[in-house]
This record gives sequence, C-alpha cells and structure tokens, in this order.
Amino acid sequence: MQALRTVDARLDLEFTQAIGSLEGMGVPTAKIPFANAGAAQAPAKQKIMIEYIYAGERKALLEQASNIAKAKLRSVAGQGSSSFLLMPTQPDQHVEDDLFRAAVARRLGGTVQVKEAPAMLCSLVSRQGRCGQALDPEGIHLNQCKCGGHVSRRHDRVVRWLAAWLQDGRVDSDVLVEQVAPSDACPDGRLDLTFDDAGRRIWIDVAIVAVQSANPAAALARAKKDGIAAREAELDKRRRYAGLATPFVVEALGRPGTCARGIIGQYAKEDESGSSADAAAAWQSLSAIVQADSARTELRACGWNPADWAEAALEVL
Ligand SMILES: [Zn+2]
Repeated sequence: MQALRTVDARLDLEFTQAIGSLEGMGVPTAKIPFANAGAAQAPAKQKIMIEYIYAGERKALLEQASNIAKAKLRSVAGQGSSSFLLMPTQPDQHVEDDLFRAAVARRLGGTVQVKEAPAMLCSLVSRQGRCGQALDPEGIHLNQCKCGGHVSRRHDRVVRWLAAWLQDGRVDSDVLVEQVAPSDACPDGRLDLTFDDAGRRIWIDVAIVAVQSANPAAALARAKKDGIAAREAELDKRRRYAGLATPFVVEALGRPGTCARGIIGQYAKEDESGSSADAAAAWQSLSAIVQADSARTELRACGWNPADWAEAALEVL
C-alpha cells in the first residue's frame, strides 16, 4: 500500500483526503488502518475478533436504520451485484471514471449532491422542460422519474446486452428484440425479447427495479428479506403474461432476481472448468451497465452535465 502511494501521487492525495475526512468525523487516527504507515501488522488471530466487531457494528447499524436503508443494504448484495468493481476484461464491462465514482458512492449508501444546492430539485429534462420535482434523499423519485427517458434507456441497454449475449452462440435461433407483436398468448403487449430454444419459444421480459418504496408496507417487506423487490416484479410479469414470459429482473442497486440468475446460469457457455467463468463475465457486464446508467441518471438529475461530472460532489454517510 505504502509503495503504491509513493509512486502514485493522485492515489496518495486521495488517501490523505480520506484520512482527513475520517478524522473530521471524529474517527481516531489510530483506528484508520491506512493512516498508520509502518505500524505493526495485527497478528492474524485478531482478524477473528475484528470480524466479530464488524458483524456487531453491522447489526447495530441495521437496527437503527430506516426500512428503506435496510432494503438498500440487502439490494447491494447478491450474485454479481458488485462485479462492476472488478477490473474490466471486456469493453461492455468498462465504467467511465466519473460514473464509477458516483456508482461507488451510491453502493456505500451515499448520494450525489445537487449542484444548485440547497434546492433539492430534479434536473432531468423532458419535452415539457425541467422536471423540478423534489429529490428525496432515498432516491425514490430518481428511480421513478420518466423525464428524459433515462429509466427506460437503462432497461433498453440491458435488453440489447442480453439479446447480444444470447445471440453470441448461446441459442440457435435469431433473438428478436422488442416490439414483439401481441398475440393470443400474450395479448397484453410487447415483450423484450424472444427466441427458439430446442423447438420451444422463449419470451423474456426485462425489468430494472428499485428497492426504495414510499409505501410503508412494501418498504418493511423489503427491509426484512433479500430480493423482495425483484420477486414482486417477477410475480407481476408472470401474472401479466399468464406465465408465458420469463422475467429477467435486476434490482437497480445490483441484486439479480431468481429468474435472471436462472437464465444466465442456463445459457452461460461451459468450458473445461464448467460455465461459471462465462456467467461471472455476464454478471460483470450487467453490473457495469446497470450501475453506470444509474450513476449517469443520478448525476443528471442532480444538475451535473458530463462536462462537470468530475467536479460533482458526493455525499457518503
Ligand atoms: Zn424528476
């Protein structure tokens, strides 16, 4: 760590700033691990005690947290939910720096600060002009705002990625995207993609859902158990399409729904070590797309344009 800091001035500065901000919050310097250059390494057996303390702190934090905060903490976990943090090995896994910064803050429970604070108003723009609705600190509005089509663009990117992924030697037929004509089987409308698999027609409908809910009963249910928001969306899609479509749901903070996990697991290519490497790569791409797009929307809603994204202030609690 010290060696890295000596060769990378920017990294060193970031560490110095992080130490300063932790000290500003009242954390004793001795308790900031990377502030103690040259300090003796703790013996390994202390690790167990430290993990025990962290587990206790997590429990204590959870007890005080609001239901929405608890649900968010559940939603940042789950298969592949954090894989946008890994080193990209494919172009679609790349997250540009400014979006990466905002996505990490978001993952830590933080937010982007509104550029023209203190007015907490949504800056997304539609044909009717600027949205102007209040931005709540939980991000409920952000995930629902239809201005500028950001939420549907995130959905469409995932659809296009999934279609390309399936088409890349994972299914034999053409994968048709969007605007699938309503049929007797699905009178209710458009499904995101469809293909043939061993003579059987498969329909997939994609949704990216937020765990944050203004409805107290929904917020409580999502606080108590992992993946409830994804599960609700899966059930809703199954009902709407009379069980004919397979829902592919990912929670906006990262956690994938059971059906999405099933689809990736089923179509991932197998190599000599099994199919897990291909599935892991798929989750990394999906995580990068969802987190980068969510960060982009949040930055824009908070009034930051691409030219000043690097200056966007982040707030991590
Ligand atoms: Zn808005």
